[in-house]
Amino acid sequence: MNVTHSKPSIAFQTFGCRLNQAEAEGWQHALAAEGYPIVPPEAADVFCVHSCAVTEPAVREVAKLLRARRNRHPSQKLIVSGCATELLGDIALDLRIPHEQKGEWLPRVRAFLSALPPKTPGETPTVTLEHRRTRAALILQDGCDHFCAYCIVPHVRGKPVSESAERLLKQAQTLFANGYREIVLTGCHLALYRDPASGMDLIELLRRLCDVPGEGRFRIGSLEPCILDDTALIRLIASSKGRLCPFLHFPMQSADDTVLQKMRRRYRQKELRHVLDTVCSTLPGCGLSADWIAGHPGETPQAAETTLAFVQAYPFTGAHVFPYSKRNGTPAATFPDQVPQQEILARAKRLRETAKDQQLAQLRRAIGTPLSVIPEQRHGEVRYGWSAERFRCQLPADYPRGECVTVVPSALEGETLIVTS
Ligand code: SF4
Repeated sequence: MNVTHSKPSIAFQTFGCRLNQAEAEGWQHALAAEGYPIVPPEAADVFCVHSCAVTEPAVREVAKLLRARRNRHPSQKLIVSGCATELLGDIALDLRIPHEQKGEWLPRVRAFLSALPPKTPGETPTVTLEHRRTRAALILQDGCDHFCAYCIVPHVRGKPVSESAERLLKQAQTLFANGYREIVLTGCHLALYRDPASGMDLIELLRRLCDVPGEGRFRIGSLEPCILDDTALIRLIASSKGRLCPFLHFPMQSADDTVLQKMRRRYRQKELRHVLDTVCSTLPGCGLSADWIAGHPGETPQAAETTLAFVQAYPFTGAHVFPYSKRNGTPAATFPDQVPQQEILARAKRLRETAKDQQLAQLRRAIGTPLSVIPEQRHGEVRYGWSAERFRCQLPADYPRGECVTVVPSALEGETLIVTS
């Protein structure tokens, strides 16, 4: 679509976690509502990057992108925010908004945009936000004070701060009223959520969210295991009649007690087993994914085997395997028992292969089972969408985009369940 406008056009690129994605989406929506055209990067007057510093390669990726844009589009204004803002050295940027000032992002960017010279009205292809997303994100909290040995997040995001439950409940109602059928609940460490006024925890908040008027479902984002009463949480999902997606993503990182201790995680394998046994008995068929770190300092070959055997023992439907990457400023970076890089990569590969086998086995089990899917973008004669369990599904294109439909997959192609009618 081409529209005539005189406000500067803006493009966004977001790196890192779901929380970063949700923050940037909120800013995009706010600027779009104020009449700023949101466009593809090549067409933008202003390019906003929301950065991630979780690993050093992540910071390098942001720096590489910004240098390339500076060289290829010298007149484009560059705005950078997020955790890597202070780590980008001498790259010529027009506006830097470090993480601790992100609450000021909108007023600072508005002031920056209004100070730009007026634009000659012209034709720019706009990407209409409403056509890009079927899911909305609700940010419950930010920050973490757990200081795991490998993690830079508490150093850059600061102490946990939670959003008011009252505001969240109202926002959820508005999002459903605006047509979103899935709301992803996200945060830096969701299990630390506490309503500032009442001290209400995540489980109680979820109970209240289940009663919010409107049609749609909630998906719980990445959740640290064994911090809350996971058994109560799993029962709540099971009894929510689909209001809470039967999907859990746990950043488990390792299943070996020695490594978990070195990582300064607050659980051991026994507690993980208890959580997963409860999932299997109370929520059979639940989507179950996990993060794993391969080759953390102190991980012996035996410890790597322990994690591998653990992954094989449970019906995981997905995995993010991260080869350990030294992050300066974290205790783990100084541990003496670093694993050689080649060995880290080899362990990550094995873990990915094992997790993939598990995933495919679970997806095959889903063939012939009714799934609740929200169809998304059309690609020719088909659409893709995600089930409540977070299985990727391919459907005929005549299924309505953005509406929740019940379908029965009849086949599996790669990692995608195929629905033919
Ligand atoms: S719980 Fe650990 S891994 Fe998660 S954000 Fe906090 S410090 Fe990082």
